[in-house]
Amino acid sequence: MTLALSRPTAPPVSEQARVPLVTGGDIGYANLDHAASAPCLAAVRRAVDEFLPWYASVHRGAGFASQVATRVYERTREVLRRFAGARPRDTVIFTRNTTDSLNLLASSLPAGTSVVLFDTEHHAALLPWRGPHVYRIPTPRTRLAAVSAVDGALAACPEGPRLVVLTGASNVTGELLPVAEIAAVARRRGARIALDAAQLAPHRPLSIQDLDVDFVALSGHKLYAPFGAGALIGRADWLRAARPYLAGGGATRSVLAQDGGLGVVWNSGPERHEAGSPNTVGVYALGVACEQLGANWDAVIAHEEELGDRLRRGLAAVPGLTELKLLDGAADMVGTLSFVLDGFEPGWLAAVLSAEYGIGVRDGAFCAHVATRRLIARTGGTGGQAVRVSLGLGTTAEHVDRVVLALRQIVARGARWDYAIQDGRWAPTPDPRALPPFLAG
Ligand code: PLP
Repeated sequence: MTLALSRPTAPPVSEQARVPLVTGGDIGYANLDHAASAPCLAAVRRAVDEFLPWYASVHRGAGFASQVATRVYERTREVLRRFAGARPRDTVIFTRNTTDSLNLLASSLPAGTSVVLFDTEHHAALLPWRGPHVYRIPTPRTRLAAVSAVDGALAACPEGPRLVVLTGASNVTGELLPVAEIAAVARRRGARIALDAAQLAPHRPLSIQDLDVDFVALSGHKLYAPFGAGALIGRADWLRAARPYLAGGGATRSVLAQDGGLGVVWNSGPERHEAGSPNTVGVYALGVACEQLGANWDAVIAHEEELGDRLRRGLAAVPGLTELKLLDGAADMVGTLSFVLDGFEPGWLAAVLSAEYGIGVRDGAFCAHVATRRLIARTGGTGGQAVRVSLGLGTTAEHVDRVVLALRQIVARGARWDYAIQDGRWAPTPDPRALPPFLAG
């Protein structure tokens, strides 16, 4: 007799919507846009509900609920530290999202810091760096060449502090970048490394210590905790020495009227960069999501790999479809991919998938305009837009099969409805789909 071992199951997301179709009726929403924003985990939603009666001011109140809320907020720093595999002395600063975290880091760099990064980064990682020593290098086509390119760029940097900024997983192609290898060359060249983990953290365990990186930026809404919090985790010294990101209450230890002006003593801990009342609900939700993922990585990865393989096999059989790739050869990937389809505009395709099949995908250039345009050019195309399908814990095999079948049907027989560009986007005309009741009227 053989024993069937049941596979561990990934944590469920909270209930997903049914969406109307232009052709009539409704269908369970196939959310294939996890890379943009992931649905809320059921456990996160429950935890937020449980916390809400205790919601109160943080760091400021003598009341019991304020003490509970403060405990929740501060304890979540430890949760994030564990989730990111941080060093014991690393700081955890709560932010709004990855964009906010990387802008905070950019505003905290010592004067004269050279910054090296690939020009294919997401705009959140591409744009915040200022000054004469920002080196945006084209991403080479192999992992090895990517490591050498960073090495070469660092060798050419002037003396002084250096920072390499790198994404863990591409939001366009889902490919994993050789973070540990790049970190090793950066280390040899005396540079620090900031990891944009917006797309890596929801899909793979993260370890600042194992990767030997200095900073990690991430977003709660991509980690199944869509309540508006993110984090910057990493070495404290630059952040401690930097001008507070926002000036205001909470960031200060004391403010005195002095010599006709103000004598301000700023906090030196994470509060230095967290002025204003914090997003305690968002922070708690982020912590709960991190605990859920951290306790279930095997199931999370197995779920995604199975569906990712199914998706890639299915799409390979869609005539005229070409997947975009940053690196040659088989790279490890998360469940995100972008493609172009011969003869079909990405915005039109996304509108048809939504209106006729109840599928949510992203079209456009994914806030990575340089990357998307370049990768499309490699396929022989001339446009700057593609379609992105991204999987996650809310994805089922039926969702994957539905998008593959839909694309095959669209290629074979076109759409069943009329579409026109309205306010710059393709939309069904007419569009009989009713908004949900809470928005009606
Ligand atoms: N970095 C990458 C790789 C991303 O995919 C994104 C968002 O899509 C960001 C940064 C920015 O994240 P957020 O919009 O949460 O700030």
